[in-house]
Amino acid sequence: MFKINDNFLKLPGSYLFSTIARKVSEYKSANPDKEVISLGIGDVTKPLVPAVIEAMHKAVDEMGTAQGFHGYSPDLGYEFLRKAIAKHDYEKRGVKLDLDEIFISDGAKSDCGNIVDIFATDNRIAVTDPVYPVYVDSNAMAGKTGEYDKDKEAWTDVIYMPCTAENGFVPAFPEKTPDIIYICCPNNPTGTTLTKAQLQAWVDYAIEKDAVILYDAAYEAYIHEDDVPHTIYECEGAKTCAIEMRSFSKNAGFTGTRLGFTVIPKELTDPTTGAQLNSLWARRHGTKFNGAPYIIQRAGEAVYSPEGQAQTREQIESYMKNAKTIRDGLSGAGYTVYGGVNAPYIWMQTPDGMSSWDFFDKLLTEANVVGTPGSGFGPSGEGYFRLTAFGTAENTAKAVERICKL
Ligand SMILES: *Cc1c(COP(=O)(O)O)cnc(C)c1O
Repeated sequence: MFKINDNFLKLPGSYLFSTIARKVSEYKSANPDKEVISLGIGDVTKPLVPAVIEAMHKAVDEMGTAQGFHGYSPDLGYEFLRKAIAKHDYEKRGVKLDLDEIFISDGAKSDCGNIVDIFATDNRIAVTDPVYPVYVDSNAMAGKTGEYDKDKEAWTDVIYMPCTAENGFVPAFPEKTPDIIYICCPNNPTGTTLTKAQLQAWVDYAIEKDAVILYDAAYEAYIHEDDVPHTIYECEGAKTCAIEMRSFSKNAGFTGTRLGFTVIPKELTDPTTGAQLNSLWARRHGTKFNGAPYIIQRAGEAVYSPEGQAQTREQIESYMKNAKTIRDGLSGAGYTVYGGVNAPYIWMQTPDGMSSWDFFDKLLTEANVVGTPGSGFGPSGEGYFRLTAFGTAENTAKAVERICKL
């Protein structure tokens, strides 16, 4: 008789986005004359830039020729792409990586979810609260999080590190010692960042505790302030304790095109056996993944060309203009807002201590604007609300105007 992985049965339903969709569709059908603007989605909206499209067209044509055809990609991804990454994302920041420390994938979500494969079941994970749900759920599926406590909305074996206005969205070192620490910077959902000194403190802590940091830098391209690290390897000793994940989704609009990568330095070794985590991931990658498509890897390479850099930069800046519109508009109207300076997310405090969901309802019905209730990202998100900068400039300005009039 077969048995399922019953860890899946312990997972709480993912109600957040389905509940939002249901509420919006109910409101729209009851009020067909109202124009509802969504600043809720975490997806880009601008088309792929010309440099990327050109590279893809060229690669498509190559694939139709005997000389230019490409079958399976090398296990780690094509060298042309790994070279571009090493040069532009790391060498420029003073970080030297070997090409076999970079693993090309079909995106950061897959890598965040799959990385649990190389760790033992009894590791204790620590996450910030609120959090990108993938980190916790992927560990839960692997039976690494204990039991789910519905009342507390928390897993018994997960260390939650609250990130709120009170601590400036900087997690404090937890009471219990974690083995694996997830850090996302710039952060989704709060849009806040750590300074280099704050991240260095976490690196030092991880080294002291023999813990590993899983560092999600999906929003690196949105960093505008000087003191925010672009890669965790800017911190001293990070190569011995950190894995970094990156994505082409938010910097180049690849959410539907799919490309990302993970960096695992060879200096990162298992404290018990001395095994390199790089070798474990190489083995896992070689066994369970057959590579991102050649055409898409060429598209990724084009992001690093001078044209690609200029064109994607322009897109990011236009999203950041929206972020500024939201930040300035709402704070001008007396709201307390965070984020939006180094990230496409604005994390606002709900007014008068209103709950996240009550504010959602108010915004939907009175301003016809959709956002995301902070409590959907974790208990410490209660009393907050996320707005994204991925809308059009026109809709963003209109939505802000409506919220300010409330
Ligand atoms: C969007 C996002 C990613 C990127 O995921 P992809 O699978 O590469 O599209 C990773 N981490 C966070 C926190 C994100 O918000």
